[in-house]
Amino acid sequence: MDIIEEIFKNSKVKPTAMRLLVLQYLYNKNVTVSLTNIEDYFDNSDRTTLYRTLKTFVEKGIAHQIDDGTGITKYALCEEYCNCEIETDLHLHFHCKNCNETVCLTEHKIPHINLPEGFIAENVNLVVKGICDKCNKN
Ligand SMILES: [Zn+2]
Ligand SMILES: [Zn+2]
Ligand SMILES: [Zn+2]
Repeated sequence: MDIIEEIFKNSKVKPTAMRLLVLQYLYNKNVTVSLTNIEDYFDNSDRTTLYRTLKTFVEKGIAHQIDDGTGITKYALCEEYCNCEIETDLHLHFHCKNCNETVCLTEHKIPHINLPEGFIAENVNLVVKGICDKCNKN
């Protein structure tokens, strides 16, 4: 089975034409993307529809959103079997100040974070800033 079909099946999300296109787009990207990036790519699509599509993906665990400190929310596909759980699934993100791209460092999970008693973590957003490997080579 096609990987895209499989993602829809596993997440029990109905694959509408728009969802298929957006998922394919996210799948082919190796950097995180903003709503504006997607909007630019799908020239004649309605921003609200695109936004709702992304929202559904995030709610259903197909994608996650990243606050990289630029003020623009970024999106990326989740790995297979990701539940966006703090202890097991969340990974580092890297924002390059040179090319302005933000990437998922999926191999690098967020280390265990100790909180004082009584505090409950619901989400952790860890963004490392600097120069990415591609920019570093140039
Ligand atoms: Zn996830
Ligand atoms: Zn870079
Ligand atoms: Zn990520």
